[in-house]
Amino acid sequence: MPDSEKKKTIDEGQPAQKAAVEKGEPTIDKKYHLLESDKAREIIERAMNLAREEIPKGAVATYIPELGKEDPHQLGICLYPLKGEKICLGEYNVRFTMQSVSKVIMLIVALEVCGLKNVFRKVGMEPSGEAFDSLVELDVSDSKPYNPLINSGALAVCGLLLPEVSFQDMLRYTRNVCSDAGIELNEAVFDSEMKTCSRNRSIAYLLESKGIITTDVEDTLRFYTKMCSMNVTAESLANLGKKLANDGVCTIDGKRYMSSRTARIAKTLMLTCGMYDGSGAFAIKVGIPTKSGVGGGLLSVSDKRAGIGVFGPALDAQGNSIAGCKLLREISNELRLNLFYDPEWDREEEDDDNVMTSIKERSVM
Ligand code: GLN
Repeated sequence: MPDSEKKKTIDEGQPAQKAAVEKGEPTIDKKYHLLESDKAREIIERAMNLAREEIPKGAVATYIPELGKEDPHQLGICLYPLKGEKICLGEYNVRFTMQSVSKVIMLIVALEVCGLKNVFRKVGMEPSGEAFDSLVELDVSDSKPYNPLINSGALAVCGLLLPEVSFQDMLRYTRNVCSDAGIELNEAVFDSEMKTCSRNRSIAYLLESKGIITTDVEDTLRFYTKMCSMNVTAESLANLGKKLANDGVCTIDGKRYMSSRTARIAKTLMLTCGMYDGSGAFAIKVGIPTKSGVGGGLLSVSDKRAGIGVFGPALDAQGNSIAGCKLLREISNELRLNLFYDPEWDREEEDDDNVMTSIKERSVM
């Protein structure tokens, strides 16, 4: 291929990059390279300020009464690049319950212990477009939960896990994969949810009626709810995200925490289903595989680049951290973390009018 046809890399002096350098704007030098840590920290600080403005538009979850006690004004982030220093800001080390973020861990363990075929015999791989605790699909004969990252799917996965592993095994694995020995079961949140989980109980019994759950329903529900009630921090989520970003291997101890296939499936489902009925819009606006939880946690994986953990308990209508989503959107734009980021991306084209003009000018319409 003649040199002139080679896709230009950022090192070869992109016009957009050159302009950015001249304007003193951030640049990246290699495809997977993040900014120098102090520049990235400045960018994240700015993004935090913007994100905080969203907090009044959200509210903490109250359907689990204990979560309603959380201070909605908290916001913390930990970004842990594969190469470079960990960046921690705000309430990054405050403990909160993992809630649905734990569905990623349930999925990982189920894929590793029970195998892919057994898992996807019980649950699908499709986004649901429904609320996280929906049970509409379960009333259709021959149907199964849409995917493992919504309540029905995770309960089905728990039914598979229960004969194989104990909650203590899951807690140990969670501590290891999150590199956080301080993770414990939050008994108050667990008790609070067990008293108010009629919807999940209904889902679990419906799954039993369809032969998807064959374990004791109440034990399965308790196992699921305990998984949701593990106390993590934004930093522990970043540690997990970093292992996922690095294909399941820890860059520090060199150990493999899950197979490459498992890491890939987890990341793919996070991208397509991780934000419930907000998954499509989030993929367009942010473009980073992410899993949310109603405790306000977000686990994000910028593949080959970084693990990111966020904590912001004020939620939007879908049950995703309202400030956390804004924060990730800003960071994705500024640090070029979008999965489809291309150094040749012309940010002018983000503007609707410009896109519509340019397609006409290119004579392709
Ligand atoms: N424990 C919560 C529930 O089952 C988790 C939901 C969530 O985080 N979206 O309702």
